[in-house]
Amino acid sequence: MCGAVAGYSIAQSESTGSAAESTTPPKYGTKADFKLAIKELKDALPRNGGVSTDQADLVIHGESPYHHHDGVDHSVVVYPETTEDVVKIVKIANKYKMPVVPYSGATSLEGQVGGYSGGCICVDMSEMDQILAIHEADADLVCQPGVGWMTINETLRSKGIPLFFPIDPGPSATIGGMVSTGCSGTNAVRYGTAKGEWFLNLTVVLPSGEVIKTRRRSRKSSAGFDLTKLFIGAEGTLGIITEVTLRLAPVLPTTVATVQFPNVSAAAEAVRQAINVAGVGASVQCVELVDNNFMAALNKFGTISRKYLEKDGLFFKFQGHSPAALKEVAKIVKGVCEKNGGSGFKLASGPAEADSMWDDRKNALTIGLSLYPDAKGWSTDVCVPVSKLPELVYETKKDIAAAQIPSMIVGHAGDGNFHALLLYKTEEELDVAKIVADRMVKRALALDGTCTGEHGVGIGKKKYLVDELGPGTVALMKKIKRTMDPLGLFNPGKVS
Ligand SMILES: Cc1cc2nc3c(=O)[nH]c(=O)nc-3n(C[C@H](O)[C@H](O)[C@H](O)COP(=O)(O)OP(=O)(O)OC[C@H]3O[C@@H](n4cnc5c(N)ncnc54)[C@H](O)[C@@H]3O)c2cc1C
Repeated sequence: MCGAVAGYSIAQSESTGSAAESTTPPKYGTKADFKLAIKELKDALPRNGGVSTDQADLVIHGESPYHHHDGVDHSVVVYPETTEDVVKIVKIANKYKMPVVPYSGATSLEGQVGGYSGGCICVDMSEMDQILAIHEADADLVCQPGVGWMTINETLRSKGIPLFFPIDPGPSATIGGMVSTGCSGTNAVRYGTAKGEWFLNLTVVLPSGEVIKTRRRSRKSSAGFDLTKLFIGAEGTLGIITEVTLRLAPVLPTTVATVQFPNVSAAAEAVRQAINVAGVGASVQCVELVDNNFMAALNKFGTISRKYLEKDGLFFKFQGHSPAALKEVAKIVKGVCEKNGGSGFKLASGPAEADSMWDDRKNALTIGLSLYPDAKGWSTDVCVPVSKLPELVYETKKDIAAAQIPSMIVGHAGDGNFHALLLYKTEEELDVAKIVADRMVKRALALDGTCTGEHGVGIGKKKYLVDELGPGTVALMKKIKRTMDPLGLFNPGKVS
């Protein structure tokens, strides 16, 4: 399938990222120390299932079917039920100088939850999955970090509370991991990202074992530094989050439309205009860019009876206070699309069809993987200013065509954020995917964008941080890390 791989001649430039500051590597405990640590963990969490050294558990927690990075097994997996349990674990980690890797939904895509090669404790937060309080009058909710965003929304719906949590990454993602990756999703066009104001207050166990709250429940606070933000995107390197207060948004009526274009550049330009020019931006909840390869895969492998034109296109989700308002927005956006060469604009006939059309887009990863049976998928993520998206997508499509690598492009185009899913089976194909992904990142940086719009840094994007942020900024991150975690215990080797 990847016939031209050997002859693929796009030059791969060396990463220009260099260490922002050289530091002495942390000195961890010995194997004998770690054995004692595991024994103490068993005493500290004596309930059945509180601590696992089962080989399958250690391997499963260190690997991920969702990314291309090599897995590293953990030495032990612990399942705390309370903040106090987490404190006990962290104190034992300090005593024996044993690294700690927080683990939540495990849907992160840049190797964030892999183990540490010298040995480490995986702190699986799945037993801390309770919604603790819903304050409908204040539109906020208090929960433990292991609860999923989808569970929160299902719970609110089943209780008849007309509120929802709008940050929507991978379906199995949980709140602790979402805070820690600084994630977002399709709703970011309208509601912003995890780095906005959606997480109000965090309870965090610091690397010393001390417990802090970052603020209180009030909607606003200008009391001092924003320490909530310090932990958003920290990927478990600065603390373990054990409780979260999050803000909710009112549920509004929505509908879905799709439209096709002669090419991705025309589609991306229509997005820019629909959001920024047409005066309906506030009613556009989501705009998802998909390419012809995705549409072909959807027609072939999707569970749908409707068939789409196999061209580059957009999925829109509109919101409005009434069906008439939704129709009006759709009419204006249809006009913008047609002006940019769009055709086949289809508005859902009602809520059921809207849901099923949206599912077509949401199932992109599964559908994309069907393009090359038994292949692994590398889902890359970059983001640029919206006006630069057409150029970025156009050049990336050219690269992918030259590489002849099975792939598809989907993206949260309304934010200038897009992903290429690159498929590979052999080492040779993986090498080609690496070149394409590297060029995509460097192109995004050249366009004043970022190496990751939402998936985070993990181990995969570390090498780009100095180029993107500058040595001073990365040095400051390292200084904060050293100050908070002088023993280097929390998720070593990740982020910076
Ligand atoms: C099909 C699919 C679709 C996706 N779509 C999107 C998307 O649209 N947008 C997007 O942003 N992402 C997307 N992702 C990526 C992923 O869902 C997000 O990165 C998500 O935020 C990770 O949450 P998680 O619970 O799975 O975290 P995990 O993968 O378990 O952990 C992520 C990081 O957080 C740390 N961590 C976990 N829990 C805690 C805690 N309690 N305290 C401190 N640190 C902690 C971990 O150590 C790790 O560094 C997608 C993934 C998949 C598989």
